[in-house]
Amino acid sequence: MCIKLLRDWLNRWLTPSQAPADATLARAVEYLRDVYGVRVMENDPKGRARSWRRSELVILTETLHLLGPAFYKPFLDTPLHIWIDRKPGGGTYGNHWLRIGEPGRDVSILYRIILHEGTHASNEYRGWPYETRFCTKPGLDWRKVGGEWVHPRQQGKLPEPGDWETLPVDARDVSTSPAEDLAETVRYFVHSVRDEREWLWPLDKSRPPIHLWDTSPTRFVYVRDHFLVLPDDHPWYKRLAPAVEARAAANLAG
Ligand SMILES: [Zn+2]
Repeated sequence: MCIKLLRDWLNRWLTPSQAPADATLARAVEYLRDVYGVRVMENDPKGRARSWRRSELVILTETLHLLGPAFYKPFLDTPLHIWIDRKPGGGTYGNHWLRIGEPGRDVSILYRIILHEGTHASNEYRGWPYETRFCTKPGLDWRKVGGEWVHPRQQGKLPEPGDWETLPVDARDVSTSPAEDLAETVRYFVHSVRDEREWLWPLDKSRPPIHLWDTSPTRFVYVRDHFLVLPDDHPWYKRLAPAVEARAAANLAG
């Protein structure tokens, strides 16, 4: 289903004039459970969760639809529980529960947290393929030294010179481990292909968003072809120059 049809369909379901509001919201919650394996929770063990708003259910559904089946299929076997904390501030994922701090009126916060924390969840549910199979390959460049993950562009350090790919980040680079690297890279991928420049912090906002993929093509191709496994007619599918595509593919195969 294309995203416009999905949005129309959701909005029809969720229009309070057609049915009691709680009944239509309940239907949207069932859809999230049955199609994406996502349980929209309105109670958490500590009693901090609040109920969901219509706009939040719409953006959650749309985002899962676009991220696609490679991303959400594992949740159908082991459900992912998502809840909104009445307390604002960030998001966290652990043990099949994804917390979103109160986003207030800015539903984009919820969307951005789903991209990042949902990536942690999807990577874990699939047995951490980024860590177990990919992150040490050329172009991704993670190494384990004395039990610690290291990378030439680690947070707070000047990048070591060398033949490796980078994201044009400042010293606040959050990629301190492969899991963080992937969660941030998926976020950058989505924001760049959707031209959502305002959310590309801490990247250089003066450059076009797709600039990311000139300096880190292997990450781009990894997200597109291995993590999200996007079909080539997907609205987020972008192709790099043939020589760059070939180099990234060779890195990921190596
Ligand atoms: Zn994270």
